[in-house]
Amino acid sequence: MENPFLNLISPDFKQLWHDAISELVTSLATNCRLIFGEKMETCESCGGGVNSTGKKPTSVYVQGSPVHFNNVGRCGVCSGKGKRLVETSENISLAVIWNYRDFIIDVKSLKTPQGLIQTISRLDPTLPKIKKAKELVVGTDIEKYMRHRFVRNGEPIPVGMRNDETDFIVVTWKSSGG
Ligand SMILES: [Zn+2]
Repeated sequence: MENPFLNLISPDFKQLWHDAISELVTSLATNCRLIFGEKMETCESCGGGVNSTGKKPTSVYVQGSPVHFNNVGRCGVCSGKGKRLVETSENISLAVIWNYRDFIIDVKSLKTPQGLIQTISRLDPTLPKIKKAKELVVGTDIEKYMRHRFVRNGEPIPVGMRNDETDFIVVTWKSSGG
């Protein structure tokens, strides 16, 4: 017997669905940052605290350095270590849904939807980055006043009609504090 649902979803409907999600992604676009981890880097403030011989820590202020040395001549950024932990991250634009009542993917099973958000983005190229990320900072424009940090709550869920480039992913995140 022929599948009664065959051809039920017309190309026009697929396009409508795609356009609707595209519009949502565009209109709710928020500047965010994905944090992948940390790495040790030479302190840019003191240039690594190493003098021209390449050995001895120096207390010389590096021209153009944004941070001044403290009163014992140590770099205030790296405490004279010459290296410091720096977050590895990438800026990304995501559509953010703050109210769980508006979530695309139902989270009824979760007892406390408070503190949860959902993001929608194009599967390509955001999926591998989101999977790799340890944390998400939402609203980097207002970050210095208010820091919203989140960790992924489960796997990204693909939405859309699975046409090559027309797929989107919805990700649920939970607050990890400020
Ligand atoms: Zn330093």
